[in-house]
Amino acid sequence: MTRRHLTILDPLATSPVTPRGGSHPSSPLASPLNDDDDHFHDQCGVFAVYGHSEAANIAYLGLHALQHRGQESAGIVTSDGEAMYAHRAMGLVQDAFSAEGLQKLPGRIAIGHVRYSTAGDTHIRNAQPFAVDSARGSLAVCHNGNLTNADEIRAELEAEGSIFSSTSDTEVLVHLAARSKEIAIEDRILDALARVKGAYSLLFLTSDAIVAVRDPRGIRPLCLGLLPSRKDVHVIASEPVAFDLIGAEYVRDIEPGEMLVIDGAGVRSLRLREEQQPQSCIFEYVYFARPDSKLNGRSVYEVRKEFGRTLAKESPAEAEVVIPVPDSGVPAAIGYAGALGIPFEMGLIRSHYVGRTFIEPQESIRHFGVRLKLNTVEEILRGKRVVVLDDSIVRGTTSRKIIKMVRGAGAREVHLRISSPPTEWPCFYGIDTPTRRELIASSHSVDEIARYVTADSVGYLSLHGMLDAVTRIGDKSSDSNKAHYCHACFSGRYAIPFAPLPESTSSSSKRRLSEV
Ligand code: SF4
Repeated sequence: MTRRHLTILDPLATSPVTPRGGSHPSSPLASPLNDDDDHFHDQCGVFAVYGHSEAANIAYLGLHALQHRGQESAGIVTSDGEAMYAHRAMGLVQDAFSAEGLQKLPGRIAIGHVRYSTAGDTHIRNAQPFAVDSARGSLAVCHNGNLTNADEIRAELEAEGSIFSSTSDTEVLVHLAARSKEIAIEDRILDALARVKGAYSLLFLTSDAIVAVRDPRGIRPLCLGLLPSRKDVHVIASEPVAFDLIGAEYVRDIEPGEMLVIDGAGVRSLRLREEQQPQSCIFEYVYFARPDSKLNGRSVYEVRKEFGRTLAKESPAEAEVVIPVPDSGVPAAIGYAGALGIPFEMGLIRSHYVGRTFIEPQESIRHFGVRLKLNTVEEILRGKRVVVLDDSIVRGTTSRKIIKMVRGAGAREVHLRISSPPTEWPCFYGIDTPTRRELIASSHSVDEIARYVTADSVGYLSLHGMLDAVTRIGDKSSDSNKAHYCHACFSGRYAIPFAPLPESTSSSSKRRLSEV
């Protein structure tokens, strides 16, 4: 077989860029913003295009639409059938690529990735896609998820002489595929996947094909699209919202345990060797996915509104106005307000221009960090009983600051409503979460949380209510089996159990995960 050449256009010395709206953890300017971003953090977004003369440009636009899934680094690898070309850099998609740089990525097929680190350090060496040359040709891969047995496999491979260039869990896949005795690429990938456990939505690029895989439980999303004007141009993305920007049509979600091979012969669907009950991440509907996306045939926006309506039944509040914590709380607040006949207003306004040039004042200013992102509209809040609606509470620190701001703007009462159940458990499937002890709901009752955040009352959506709401929305193609959703961060019922339970899934923590 002819040896392919890989061109890495970016030296790994590319300077880190502080992302807008989410700070680079190593930045000295990062902490005030991070302190006020009390969310589970999204993982990564992946995108692929097959059969387009401007593959790199299409991938760039796809990644741009998936920017909310990761802001630390971005990368694209293309193939022109002879060679592969790669560019990876820290920062947002628009900072990582220039028009000139994209021109240096020729070819009709491409895969791309935006990353928020969940396993491995925050460093350019962990930016994806990973691309390697081997005796059997070049192979590139990018990954959304987390391999729970990557440490074990890595130790094994290192003991046998493999040399890793990153600390990311994804790199073990490239090594495993390279060591497979199989000839066909799909068989080599199947071999590699037979060894790994955990959550993965993967895109592989060879010189002339794209292989897309979703893990047997389908924990992280992945979907297929088509350019309507060009029936031979296929696209794949973490969320179909990436198709809208390039005028592609959503075809379908890639099924749990399905492998799609797209090459000159068309699209082939294969099954992974391992079969499992589907367990797609319900938190995608709560917060991770964009509200204008569809997952499993369901509008994320409509699901969030239904969360709000269900929450109104379960935990009504007597109030004169319902305000969301923007942007993620907006659809649920509309649903909540509509169900109770209370006016919906934007009592909090989000600034979309934070994080780039930030100087912290020497003298302390009340709620300074949170005010960078949010400010109150006094005219809406003064003298009112207010419901503040947010999608989740992680540590409770931001909720406390927001409620103090709302009271400071003259609200008479503040009732906090959360459109998901209490987040009591960390996620081990590709989401960056704090330690269990840092999750306020793991050790505090709802009344205690209300006291901490200084709310007059706190109400959460129940787990039943959340599952009912998700399965009420959608069409016939939507999976309405409630057992097919992962809700481990709410319930502690992990589809892949761990022993011992690790302290954290934070990217900075040492992983001690193993499947039992
Ligand atoms: S534990 Fe929570 S965040 Fe993680 S995959 Fe399951 S539902 Fe999603």
